[in-house]
Amino acid sequence: MTVDNVKPTVGFIGLGIMGRPMAENLIRAGYPLIVYNRTPQKMEAVVKLGAKSTNHPAQVCDDSDIVITMLPDTPDVDQVYFGDHGIMNRVRAGQILIDMSTVSPRIARKIAEEAQAKGAESLDAPVSGGDIGAKEGTLSIMVGGSVHAFERAYPLFQVMGKNIVHIGPSGAGQVTKTCNQIVVAITIEAIGEALVLAEKSGVDPAKVRSALLGGFASSRILEIHGQRVLDRRFEPGFKMRLHRKDLNIALDTAQDMEVSTPLTALVHDMMNSLLAQGKGELDHSYLVAEIAKRANLAME
Ligand code: NAP
Repeated sequence: MTVDNVKPTVGFIGLGIMGRPMAENLIRAGYPLIVYNRTPQKMEAVVKLGAKSTNHPAQVCDDSDIVITMLPDTPDVDQVYFGDHGIMNRVRAGQILIDMSTVSPRIARKIAEEAQAKGAESLDAPVSGGDIGAKEGTLSIMVGGSVHAFERAYPLFQVMGKNIVHIGPSGAGQVTKTCNQIVVAITIEAIGEALVLAEKSGVDPAKVRSALLGGFASSRILEIHGQRVLDRRFEPGFKMRLHRKDLNIALDTAQDMEVSTPLTALVHDMMNSLLAQGKGELDHSYLVAEIAKRANLAME
């Protein structure tokens, strides 16, 4: 498909906050693009840039060599791959299916098995770096699947990301993303405990942050989200509701593997409470507000 420098035709499904800028970067890099989005209006911008729109995922699959999906959650991926007019109805030998959504490793393996049975290949390739990374083409991409499929997809990944790592077989990319989301969630919680304790003790939390940034407790999360908390800036960024979804995946995976993850469960529980309070659309750093509330400290 890449012989004679002819670029493969790429199908792209899911043109949301992340998907649209990723698709736009592929068009700008010269890839012929065929797109589908559930809400058709969201296809207009990429069609103006030269993409061809379709009516359902199976149609995307018919006309493309490589299909990329960027959807919110595991049931959405299940529907787009295995539902009526789903990708698996039409997948053919030689195609590569790349799911870049953050979803369960289990569905990554299910897609891989089904694709293999039809002579196709698949990769799970979730990302980190947010909407800015998507726009700038600087995403971190963690990939599960065969080395052969990874090498074929690598030129596409280079358009969308910078730190591109092949982790292991199918599902390994999603397991990596789950690990990432556990570390981020628990670190935000720890920073919250520290800053709330400082404030309640009458010690300037800004100075605590500055002091900690020079030592062993330093982290990007203390730097960026610590400052967000001090400024009380909780517009998203990364929405609490999506991080709660990622911890659902983490707990589910931990259960499958019989691994005890008590702190992940605790933060998941705190996020449940915040979602019940209508805070799911705020940035995940708002988790600190739950700790403040328990200390009877205002955080608005
Ligand atoms: P989003 O803005 O909600 O976009 C999701 C897109 O998928 C929408 O265009 C939506 O269509 C479409 N969709 C949803 N359910 C569908 C279904 N059942 N069938 C067909 N299309 C469907 O989400 P996002 O922020 O781009 O996130 C996508 C994935 O990337 C998520 O797994 C997220 O966790 C992950 N991620 C996000 C970030 C971030 O900072 N946002 C960072 C890293 C990873 P409609 O237009 O009809 O709603």
